Amino acid sequence: MQVRAYRSLQDIRISNPEYSPWIDLIELTFEECDKPEWSQVEIFPNIGSRDPAPYIHGANISLRQQLLQDWAHKLLTKGLGESESINKMIESNLPELTTAAISQDMANAEAICSQYGLDEKSMEVMLPLLVTPLLRSISIKAASYAAIDAGERRYCPICGAWPLLLEYRGLDRSRYLRCGRCAFGWEISWSMCPFCGNRDHRSLESISTQVNSLRKVETCSQCKSYIKAITTLDALHPDELLAEDLASVELDLIALSNGFQRPSGLGFQPITLVTLKGSKKGLWPWIKT
Ligand SMILES: [Zn+2]
Ligand SMILES: [Zn+2]
Repeated sequence: MQVRAYRSLQDIRISNPEYSPWIDLIELTFEECDKPEWSQVEIFPNIGSRDPAPYIHGANISLRQQLLQDWAHKLLTKGLGESESINKMIESNLPELTTAAISQDMANAEAICSQYGLDEKSMEVMLPLLVTPLLRSISIKAASYAAIDAGERRYCPICGAWPLLLEYRGLDRSRYLRCGRCAFGWEISWSMCPFCGNRDHRSLESISTQVNSLRKVETCSQCKSYIKAITTLDALHPDELLAEDLASVELDLIALSNGFQRPSGLGFQPITLVTLKGSKKGLWPWIKT
């Protein structure tokens, strides 16, 4: 795990002990992302997929069955405790659950979880973490493609998520949006709402606090959305994105109290095929057996 992110998470543990179970899961996920085995994830993009679809839409994602099963077991038992239901779900429905997590298809994910009596609220928290090592690996592989293609894209060009944070990067303070799922970063022009594309400066504002002058929240009164922004010399390490998001909760409270929201769901829901090597299963999400 990256050292600055680790320190930041420990500070949050001390100041907000109620976040501890959630931070345990985040740390477990970051340690998993460091495993070199995840670099073996293969992606076969759909070459017919056209803009504005993100890179993974229509793609076949292939990885070792054991790698995904071990990770799912480690994460879910940490969050829910050891149970036979988790083992059965992993054995029978893991590709489907992974596919649902990638596209944030919560109806399908809930249907799978309820089939095995897995607590849906806890699973909702863990599903984004389940696919984090996978999506980060794809993001690294696809970075050169997406950098060319990113343009003015408002949602992640790799995985379709809305941006988690905005970075003012470097001495020239270039604006980069960062994805909280796959950690990809893409540059956008000045003065544009990343959610609705509004460029009218009269309805784009920023609010900062006296606590930390490097952080502020940017709001759009046309779509009533907000994004937190941070000034940084270099791109934040992928582990720092979630840590920074947690460390800046006071900005969320300010934005929410002023009537602004973070958009829910994804900017684009990608459909993918997850194939596990060493398994005969690899189902398109709409095919039921
Ligand atoms: Zn992404
Ligand atoms: Zn907007």
